[in-house]
This record gives sequence, C-alpha cells and structure tokens, in this order.
Amino acid sequence: MIPGVRLVVLGKQGAGKGTQCVRLSHHYVVPHVSTGDMLRGEVKSKTPFGVRAQSMMDQGELLPDDLVMEMVGGRLAERDARGRGFVLDGCPRTTAQAKGLEEIVHPFGLDLVINLEIDTSLVMKRLASRRVCVDCGANYSTAAPPMVNWTCDVCGGEVVQREDDTEEAIERRLDLYEAETAPLIAWYSERDLLVPVNGTGSPDAVTRRVVGAIDTRRQIPRSLS
Ligand code: ADP
Repeated sequence: MIPGVRLVVLGKQGAGKGTQCVRLSHHYVVPHVSTGDMLRGEVKSKTPFGVRAQSMMDQGELLPDDLVMEMVGGRLAERDARGRGFVLDGCPRTTAQAKGLEEIVHPFGLDLVINLEIDTSLVMKRLASRRVCVDCGANYSTAAPPMVNWTCDVCGGEVVQREDDTEEAIERRLDLYEAETAPLIAWYSERDLLVPVNGTGSPDAVTRRVVGAIDTRRQIPRSLS
C-alpha cells in the first residue's frame, strides 16, 4: 500500500501548483486541500464569507490570516486528512499562516514542503492563457483546452478565465508572493522541510520530478539528510 503524505506545495502563481497538487493527491491517495478552490466555492455559493471575500480575491489581495487558518484548520481536522494526510495548496502564504499551520498539524508535523520553482518570465504567459473549470477547478489553457467546447473533461462544468487572471491582479499577486510568501522558503529550509523542484517542462515531467523528490527524501532519516 502506498503511504499517505502530509505535504505543503509552495510556488508562485502559474508555477503549476494546482495541476501538480491534483496529481499528487491521486498518487498518494490524500485529499487536495486548496485554499483558492475552497474560497472560490464560498464565493460561488454566495455564503456571507464568500460575499465579503470576492472583491479582495478579484483584486489579488490576500484574505485575513485568521479567517483562512480557521477554514484550513477545519478541513485538516476531517477524517480523511487526519487519517492519510493531505496536499495543501495555497497555504501558508504568510509567516503568520505558517505558524498557524504548525499548531494545526501538531504533534505530527509536516513530512515535506515542495517548492515548485519557475521563472517569472514564464508565469505571465502561463497565467494569461490559463482557463479553469468553475465546478471542480481543473486547469486548462488556450493551448490545451478541454475536448469539447470549453466544457470540463473531468466533470462537465464550464471552463472559463478566472476573474483574478487580469494583468493588474496577476501583478498584485506576484508582488504579494515576493513580499509575504517567498520568505517561507527560508523558513521551511531552516526547519529542514524544504525540497526545491524544477517546475519547467511538461506536467508529466514535473510530476515525475516531484514524486521522485518526495520518495527519495522519505527514505532518508531527517537527521542524515
Ligand atoms: P493564485 O495562487 O493563482 O494566486 P489561488 O487560487 O491559490 O491563486 O488563490 C486565489 C485567491 O484566494 C488569492 O489571490 C487570495 O485572494 C485568496 N487566497 C487563497 N489562499 C489564501 C491564503 N492562504 N491566504 C490569504 N488569501 C488566500
């Protein structure tokens, strides 16, 4: 039986986090916990939280740490995540969230933090052509659309451009990534949890690299790595 995993995936917008996290969640048979997808679900269902979150998300702003961590804490407390683990996508995004996550996952901790590395020159191109399913969040691009008429191959939902994939909101998200999220690379490196992986190339090639990095790293006792 393939062991589960307790994984965080970091990477700037357009690094391919969403695509890789879905694949990793299937590979390790653990839930894909994406804060972006959860928040878009709240917006779509017009919950009071979703209504307040929408304009901040459309502008590329970060939502308050305490609200995000309450949502993540609730999801990670569910049976599937407690039992086999999780692939956490989109959180933590600030040092305060990383500290909050440390408390949530105590006493087991995280197995690993993958940092999906990609050049900023590539991400603008990827984000401009990105299209997503409004129902399940599956990712497509103008170069690799769904098989039929912008209808999701996975669930039949409508495939659209995200509201926050405008040039302005993308720039704001990338700035916030540098200011708030990039420092987490050093933070997790100091805790000996970080594994950098090259995020360029085909999705299959990147998945092979990530799974290889996770499996290699898991064979080495932390104290010897
Ligand atoms: P991206 O990585 O392309 O910016 P996500 O789908 O991860 O997109 O997130 C979309 C938006 O949801 C963010 O721009 C932000 O407004 C909000 N969001 C998601 N995760 C978090 C988080 N951990 N903390 C604060 N805001 C978040």
